[in-house]
Amino acid sequence: MEKIEKPSFSVGERVEKLCAACDEERGHVVISVTKRGQISRVSCPKCGTSSTFKSAKRTPQRPSSQPGTPYDRTRTYRTGQTMLHPTYGQGEVTSVIEPQKIDVLFSDRMRRLIHAQ
Ligand SMILES: [Zn+2]
Repeated sequence: MEKIEKPSFSVGERVEKLCAACDEERGHVVISVTKRGQISRVSCPKCGTSSTFKSAKRTPQRPSSQPGTPYDRTRTYRTGQTMLHPTYGQGEVTSVIEPQKIDVLFSDRMRRLIHAQ
């Protein structure tokens, strides 16, 4: 019997998916996974729509048209802004959590960063 290795995911990771509400393919955030590590629900960081996720394929990143400016913790970011983090690479601000905390969606997963320091 052959064992097929399926990719295992965890909450907070990023997957590419077509958002029906935004009508575009974009990075979604995994919000729930099954016991076997398969994605069951994802959320669109742009419009907030959560939907079921069927295919667990990791699609290659498309190069973004906007390269983004280097991440600077002293800057104040707004939702939708892009940045280039020295460690995590290209990211998009999906929400401002607190006056000095932002959620940024990078190519692999969501991360919480500080800003406006
Ligand atoms: Zn959307």
